[in-house]
Amino acid sequence: MLNETHDPGLRSWVLSAQQPGTDFPLQNLPYCVFRRSGSQEAWRGGVAIGDTILDMAAAYALGVFSSLAAEAAQTACASTLNGLMALGPSAWSALRLALSRLLRDGAPEAAQLQACLVAQVDAEYAVSAGIGDYTDFFTSQHHALNAGRIFQPQNALLPNFKWLPIGYHGRASTVAISGTAVARPHGQTRAPEAAAPRFGPTQGLDYEVELGIFVGPGNPQGTSIALDDAEDHAFGLCLLNDWSARDVQAWESMPLGPFMAKNFLTSVSPWIVTLEALAPFRVPLPREATDPPALPYLQSQQVQAFDIQLEAWLTPQGEVHATRLSHTSYRHAYWSVAHMLAQHTSNGCALLPGDLLGTGTQSGPQPGEEGCLLELTRGGQNLLTLPSGVQRGYLQDGDSVLLRGVCERAGFARIGFGECHGQIVPARPAIYL
Ligand code: CA
Repeated sequence: MLNETHDPGLRSWVLSAQQPGTDFPLQNLPYCVFRRSGSQEAWRGGVAIGDTILDMAAAYALGVFSSLAAEAAQTACASTLNGLMALGPSAWSALRLALSRLLRDGAPEAAQLQACLVAQVDAEYAVSAGIGDYTDFFTSQHHALNAGRIFQPQNALLPNFKWLPIGYHGRASTVAISGTAVARPHGQTRAPEAAAPRFGPTQGLDYEVELGIFVGPGNPQGTSIALDDAEDHAFGLCLLNDWSARDVQAWESMPLGPFMAKNFLTSVSPWIVTLEALAPFRVPLPREATDPPALPYLQSQQVQAFDIQLEAWLTPQGEVHATRLSHTSYRHAYWSVAHMLAQHTSNGCALLPGDLLGTGTQSGPQPGEEGCLLELTRGGQNLLTLPSGVQRGYLQDGDSVLLRGVCERAGFARIGFGECHGQIVPARPAIYL
């Protein structure tokens, strides 16, 4: 799985790629869709290197790619990356190797490619794919337990959890790029003692620390993706914030699960980190002797987890300093990327290139690893006190939430996911009131 592109000694002629702490060294090479801020330029694919973006349309026009890498690079010139996602791992790998060599110190093409760099601070981003369908899973047992203790304390971890990765079909139309304002949604809620529900702005606005998975080649309707082949159908991972209205969720969710509490907005980071870039950060799946044996279609000796550190930061309204609310790792998730793809297609359900899967809120076993305010405040009951003295149960108007993801391992280059952020703005006037 490891190859020359993972060599920690590689250096780029883009000097900022060597800056300590950069998310985007030469060993990462994540994709985005971008254009210069405020311009009417066409959206096109880009690749992060240091604090710049390699403009794939400009680089392709130079003719610096050949054979399979050229075919892949051509698809990355488009306004969405669906075409690149559809090509599959051989083409992705060929393009990654070509990019690694072109951006390496001493590459003869460096002088030409210098003109294809756009500073990240001068860019704006779009969601990288036309997303046909979005499915959000529930793969963290620690989130399931913490949330279960609030919603159904008598049976915190539901009996199906360790038998299958469960999920629900979300709303692709409201997946938005990081930075999109989060308008406090209206919804129907019922206080425990109230005789009737009410309709109005949610008082339980929360975030969820998740990763998103962009589907690569899909599967025809009526076919399934085998667990051991499933990663070939995963293009890459991004940060994902599944904004949630807890009071709406508590009232509406039984018996069918999330609906209006989740579909008002889902934020994704601009950068998609490929599975190949994540190869050095594979770790064994968390399993205990007491866990039930997986059914054969969910059983594999090969499938692994990824150690991706995930952080959530809050900047309260009126303040400038962010406070870190949680720090965990995706390594704690019970079900992997491959399990989600295998489960989703196990009944013959077709996936398409550019479909988005969410991992569900990622929490770890220790205090400080809770991936949402629902867990951190026990359903809004135990207020968090921030260093400034400000308290929070759920999010207030003006609050900003920022997610980060980073992979670190001794002997390898540190790579990151950039940021996924959003600021809460007051509820829009409700036309139905
Ligand atoms: Ca979620």
